[in-house]
Amino acid sequence: MKICVLPGDGIGPEIMAEAVRVLKALDLKLEMEEALLGGCAVDAAKDPFPEATQALAKAADAVLLGAVGGPQWDNNPRELRPERGLLRIRKDLGLFANLRPAILYPELANASTLKPEVVAGLDILIVRELTGDIYFGQPRGIELRDGERYGYNTMHYTESEIRRILRVAFDAARKRNRKVCSVDKMNVLECTQLWRDVATETAKEYPDVELSHMLVDNAAMQLVKNPKQFDVMVTGNMFGDILSDEASMLTGSIGMLPSASLDADNKGLYEPSHGSAPDIAGKGVANPLATILSAAMMLRYTFGNEESAQRIEAAVKKVLAQGLRTGDIYEPGTTRVGTREMGDAVLAAL
Ligand code: NAD
Repeated sequence: MKICVLPGDGIGPEIMAEAVRVLKALDLKLEMEEALLGGCAVDAAKDPFPEATQALAKAADAVLLGAVGGPQWDNNPRELRPERGLLRIRKDLGLFANLRPAILYPELANASTLKPEVVAGLDILIVRELTGDIYFGQPRGIELRDGERYGYNTMHYTESEIRRILRVAFDAARKRNRKVCSVDKMNVLECTQLWRDVATETAKEYPDVELSHMLVDNAAMQLVKNPKQFDVMVTGNMFGDILSDEASMLTGSIGMLPSASLDADNKGLYEPSHGSAPDIAGKGVANPLATILSAAMMLRYTFGNEESAQRIEAAVKKVLAQGLRTGDIYEPGTTRVGTREMGDAVLAAL
């Protein structure tokens, strides 16, 4: 199991160090090699995604990423910005499926802006298509027509693109509560009528998983009204962009949320949903749990090691139950700890 480790910028190296310690403690046959991505790579090699990193990422089975970016690179030309490295590695690896769990541990129910009874125990997985849809469709542009500016984009999906992302969702549901909700706007958009048709066809391959359909406007409402009705939600690139951010904010704790982006062979890039948090970088106070939970997702989705994934997740639940909190999830009555102490506690719980 070859893992390319990319700590990145800001808090990246601090949180990655804890995830690597957790992985090493599992005593699996893991080969981990580090490389540069983002601002640190711009400084060292004048390229946010240098050739050495490209080669390592290609050769690895999975990539574990901290975060990239920081104010010192914000005024660089676009090709020398850290975030460009992120876009390039996703494209280079052909990652078409983005998996973002929104989990709210009962102990953190007060972190949400919603009522605790609505969100406590929330556990949703949003599966977003990442390489198609209106974000990539041609033709597109802004031009002059009949004396005024005219802007346009094209929403498009082939049935094979829809089928492969639906399969990711159904496969994920088999590891969870066997319910998939497919989100579209078939009452207005033909492209998403095709989405619904292909979803219904694909469901026949998964008779053990229950499929439902929901219009995107209703899905946005249901996510705040009764989010616990969902198990796996699958949708296209644009709807998924919006709904996955909405779902992650239900939890109120960005330092807790992992993510995975997969290719057709379950090779994946795993990273926390948050950024490089320059405001707290180097202080040893960042929450490493999103990165540790991203490592658990890597064991589950790329290496098919459900048992080790669950061991990590159980250890995280245990430290929360012990009342340990980094600053981002701290509340009175709990014990405030730093990045390293949180890592130590997860290791002890393992
Ligand atoms: P951010 O997620 O880095 O930070 C937002 C807020 O959340 C900050 O107050 C930060 O201190 C806090 N925070 C984030 N992660 C935390 C953690 N693990 N523990 C404790 N607190 C945490 O978002 P931002 O401030 O908008 O962006 C900062 C930089 O990160 C920018 O350069 C941006 O481009 C980059 N960014 C990178 C990624 C990525 O690498 N995937 C994603 C988003 C933003």
